[in-house]
Amino acid sequence: MAIIRFRDSGKSITVAKILCLGSNYAEHAKEMKAEVPRAPVVFLKPATALLHDGEDVVLPPFSSELHHEVEMVIVIGKEGKNIPVRAAYEYVAGYAVGLDMTLRDVQDQAKKKGLPWSVAKGFDTSAPVSTIVRKELIDDPHNLDISLKVNGQLRQHSNTSKMVFRVHDAVSYLSGVFTLEPGDLIFTGTPEGVGRVVPGDMLEATLDKVGSLRVGIKQSPGEERGIV
Ligand code: MG
Repeated sequence: MAIIRFRDSGKSITVAKILCLGSNYAEHAKEMKAEVPRAPVVFLKPATALLHDGEDVVLPPFSSELHHEVEMVIVIGKEGKNIPVRAAYEYVAGYAVGLDMTLRDVQDQAKKKGLPWSVAKGFDTSAPVSTIVRKELIDDPHNLDISLKVNGQLRQHSNTSKMVFRVHDAVSYLSGVFTLEPGDLIFTGTPEGVGRVVPGDMLEATLDKVGSLRVGIKQSPGEERGIV
């Protein structure tokens, strides 16, 4: 079962579904040659995609272009549907830092053909997430430095103040589409600087006041690469 823990209490929560926002930082939308969306761009990862600190992202045999996307993650603590913006924080349990690991070659092919992103975004190990910090310990989730280093080199560095759709917007909007449940995770989109990682790399994602998350990259064993 996919669980994550609170940093301070060690209490665990079972991950229900993983909702993700795309193009939620203007500079990242620009580097992807995408428009800044008027309504949130939403996709999902299954709970089986979850990975923990210290584990390895496994590059599947059907891809040769794995990208990092560092993101703030909202953890939902209470069930809700059609949540008004002003009540959104009542439904938040806390925050974590995560990596929306993406098979960019598979995603590019899907985009070209107008097909879904499920394979590119939802493969096993595609959702590394840190421990959770309770919302009471974060004064302002929209003023947190967020960064990613690969093998000690800084690749992404921004601040959550630059998110297009903010925590309350995301919770309210998503709850109009999906019933939110305790243990749902919301990946809030990545800033600019996304790029390729290869087997053997070590990634360190950091979110101010939340902490860090370290994962390695390894090749799926015993299989040849080739894009499907
Ligand atoms: Mg992303």
